[in-house]
Amino acid sequence: MKLTNLDERIHVLDGETSPSSVLQAICQSGIQEEAFYICDADEIIFKYKQWKLLLPRVQPHYAVKCNDSTVVLEILAALGTGFDCASKGEINKVLDLEVDPNRIIFAHPCKPASHIRHAAALGVNLTTYDNVTELHKMKSLHPTCNLVLRMRCDASSSCSQLGIKYGCDPVTEGPNLLTLARDLGLNVVGVSFHVGSGCREPAAFRRAISLARDLFDFGTGLGFNMTLLDIGGGFPGDNNTNFSECADVINKSLDELFASPEIQVIAEPGRYFVCSAFTLATNIHSKREIRSKEGDITSVMYYINDGVYGSFNAKLYEDAVFHGVPLETPKGKLIPSSVWGPTCDGIDKVQENVLLPLMDLGSWIIYQNLGAYSLPVASPFNGFPVPKVHTVSSHAAWMLLKDRLPMSPEHFVEGNTPANLCMGLDLGGAAPIAEVARRLSLAGA
Ligand code: PLP
Repeated sequence: MKLTNLDERIHVLDGETSPSSVLQAICQSGIQEEAFYICDADEIIFKYKQWKLLLPRVQPHYAVKCNDSTVVLEILAALGTGFDCASKGEINKVLDLEVDPNRIIFAHPCKPASHIRHAAALGVNLTTYDNVTELHKMKSLHPTCNLVLRMRCDASSSCSQLGIKYGCDPVTEGPNLLTLARDLGLNVVGVSFHVGSGCREPAAFRRAISLARDLFDFGTGLGFNMTLLDIGGGFPGDNNTNFSECADVINKSLDELFASPEIQVIAEPGRYFVCSAFTLATNIHSKREIRSKEGDITSVMYYINDGVYGSFNAKLYEDAVFHGVPLETPKGKLIPSSVWGPTCDGIDKVQENVLLPLMDLGSWIIYQNLGAYSLPVASPFNGFPVPKVHTVSSHAAWMLLKDRLPMSPEHFVEGNTPANLCMGLDLGGAAPIAEVARRLSLAGA
């Protein structure tokens, strides 16, 4: 596996340096103007460890669609997760990292024919289905593939409801779809569901697992060897929302309804792994002060260099609310403000009715928890570039990862230091912050 450019490398920090101090140093370098991300590799590792601790029976298959940055995929591949791929392109991305095809579930119930042929050719042998036509496609294009029936069970509240598009009714359609698979001579190995992305009702997992149990029993009655339960995604991504509540519901439901250790339980978390690892720094390039007749400022419109066609696209499709924090400690009183993206479009508004200190052009506004469904959806509409990502890790995280990453020899030379490997520098140790900041600013400039 070859890392092709500086953006895809992990910058190892010395013990004194945190991801936020790197962000700050880049903002204050005097040469950085474009918006940029800091991705904290340690945070992804933390999420993995937390998952293993709280959901030990469930093997995560990271949903690539959520954030397909090479570095994210590499870190998760190194940690040992599986992958949920939804297309030929996503399968290629994961296989390029030398991940074994049996770590992939092609978790799309409605696949283009060429993508199914591609999966068959590359040995991806696990996929979902939720309708009759898909079964006939699988029969003609990839008849030996193991199938997972995707059923519908929606949380009462979520950021994005997926059941309106995918998942068969578990009661009225599920049994028929299992029977047809048997009649076609196909092999069904399990059941999957997705309660909705950003699930706000942990109890939905209980309902779904219970419905899946009924379909397992039906499938077993038809003669299938039902061994795989896929509990989908939907887990919260920021660290303030209670992941452990979801885990509690799931663990109890599994103990009660899927106690047999012979049943493999997997999940397809996306948001959970990446949301909190990415912090975006945006720069105020323009502003409009609205004044009273007396000349006092009554409100301010700030224009930043990323917007709803870029990293804040969730504003358009799930009405997300973003909370930006000025990099500099606020001085003076707070003023009613709005924050706008850079494109000429009137809907390109990031924040409205917020109280912010009076800020100058060139000031930075920082947005945390922006790793999920931001970068892969962002477009360079109006010629404004999608922000670059700078990935940093602690020395300990790097030591954990480096032996597991499939790096090419030029990136891993014996006797080299982590900093050399990551930055192409000869610093003789982990990089001091000023050097990291200078390098990253230059890369992002
Ligand atoms: N699995 C499937 C089939 C999905 O469609 C999605 C999101 O759209 C995911 C997993 C990831 O969901 P989340 O990011 O909520 O964990």
